[in-house]
Order: sequence, then structure tokens, then C-alpha cells
Amino acid sequence: MSGMRPTGRLHLGHLVGALSQWVEFSKTDETFFEVADLHALTTAFEHSDVIAASVRENVLDWIAAGVDPERSTIYVQSHVPEISELHLLLSMVVPVSWLQRVPTFKDQIVALGGDIATYGFLGYPLMQLCDIAIVRADTVPVGKDQLAHLEFGREVVRRFNSLYGPTLVEPQGTLSEFPDVPGTDGRKMSKSLGNTIDIADDDATTTKRVRSMITDPLKVRRNDPGRPEICPVFALHNIVNVPRVPAFEAECRTGALGCVYCKRAGAAALAHFMQPVRERRASLDPAAVDTILAEGAAKARIVAAATLADVKAAMRLP
Ligand code: SF4
Repeated sequence: MSGMRPTGRLHLGHLVGALSQWVEFSKTDETFFEVADLHALTTAFEHSDVIAASVRENVLDWIAAGVDPERSTIYVQSHVPEISELHLLLSMVVPVSWLQRVPTFKDQIVALGGDIATYGFLGYPLMQLCDIAIVRADTVPVGKDQLAHLEFGREVVRRFNSLYGPTLVEPQGTLSEFPDVPGTDGRKMSKSLGNTIDIADDDATTTKRVRSMITDPLKVRRNDPGRPEICPVFALHNIVNVPRVPAFEAECRTGALGCVYCKRAGAAALAHFMQPVRERRASLDPAAVDTILAEGAAKARIVAAATLADVKAAMRLP
């Protein structure tokens, strides 16, 4: 089980990171993928228009990346109200101090300012557990920065099961470190930094973005030797142009390769890499996404209703 917050367009970093992993998982396992609109509200409650506009676009990106709605259950978090009900029930047994000590809580308060210190934001890790527990997911791909969230969720499951008897599945994380995809400015690609290459862009826009990328600042003239290890254009070649990497690396170091040519080759390789994804995206009927999401929610709700019934029975609710 995994999910993404619909807070804007998806980019190359999502494609070679989480989405490629989702596609791999869905080849061998039963998979649930959630558009986490309620999670998005915890930090973007003043921009709910962006959330609404991003839901369908994000699902189009997922399917274009290869996530197959026939094999995976794809749904919107708020379309499965059992998640919210489970959240309420579990909130009765979770000490506030457990939530306050989740490291990302304090970090985000500092990063995003006091306005984010809402009741909903405090409960964010519990809602994450509910996303997982409601579909009885046993495996969750997590990055290192999310291990604390998962451990918190496992503690909540253990507490619930010891209070009311074995009811909820304790999820296991599979540690997944995605390659850091540098953005056009050399920092990690992120929509908040405005340095992305978006899945939904066309080739002309992508090429322009690659042309604007920073390079090694010490390689001023074409024949100056460069340092590929600090150059985001070289990192791009490492992702989309693997066979030519050894030659480009050697030629950059000796000064035989100029940045203009290197970027042009990078843009061409990127266009080739993105071609099947973009063709698939263009062939999709956006209206069909609504059907996929309706079917996904209906399927998820069957499992969710059974889990919720078990939880209520365990808690002896009438
Ligand atoms: S030649 Fe390529 S890898 Fe080397 S500094 Fe220029 S853009 Fe970067």
C-alpha cells in the first residue's frame, strides 16, 4: 500500500522513484494506491483548489508511468470514509505524546511555521497508519525519513491489539531509497523549489528546462575540464542515458565535451526516455479516471468495511 498527496504536478523524481517501484510491486503483489487528499489538507488546507485540480492529473501520471488500474486498486482517500472512521476510533487509544515525538512533526512545524500546528496535522501519522491498516496492508515502501512514522504506526497496532485482542495487521516497511534526482538548479527535484521536469510537460518545454540547468561553475569555456560528479546534467545522463555515461564522464573531465552539446544530448535522451510515458498519457481519456477512481473506491471499501467491522467488534461498539 502506498499513496501520494495531490498537491501539484508530478515530475521526473516521482517517475524514477516511487512510481517505478509501484509498478514493480504491482507485478507480483496485490497493491493499493491512494490519492491522499485528506493528508494534503493537513498542510495545504488554504489551497484546496490545488488539491482538487491535482487528483485527476496525478492519477493520469500514475497510469502513464505504468501503474495498471486492472492490477492495482487506485482510489481517493476521502472516497473511502472508513479510513476517517478508523482514524477517530484509534485516536481514542493513542497518547498525544506519541504523536508529538514523531520527529517530522517538530521539523515541519519549524519548516512551515506555526499555522501548520493544527489538530489534523498532529494526527497525520495516525491517519497514515489508518490508510495502511484499513486495507490490511502488510508491506509499505518507506524512505528512511518515514521510518519513524511506520514505527509509530506499528506501536499503535500493538497497543490496540493488546487492549482489544489481535485485530489489526502490523505493517512491515520495505526500505526504499530512491535515487535523488537533481532539479534544474542542482538541488533535489521538488515542486516547492520550482526546479522540476514534469511528467505532463511536452518535449519542447523539457528541452528548455534542460538548457536552463546549471553545470559545473568552474567549467567556464567549452574546453575547460569539468567535474561531472557535481553537475546535475551529468546526473540526468545517469538516469536517462546510461550507455553513454562512461564516455561523457571521461570527456567532461578532459574538457573534450562542451556543456552545450552535453545538455543537447541530455535533452534528447530525456525525450526518448519520456516518450512512452507521454504517449500513454496523451492516449488516456481524463474522464476515464473518474471511473477508475469510482471502481477503486468501491473495491477498497469492501476490505475497509470488513476491517472497520472487526475493529468495532473488538472495541465492543454496539
Ligand atoms: S560537460 Fe556535461 S557533465 Fe560536464 S560540466 Fe558540462 S554539462 Fe556538466
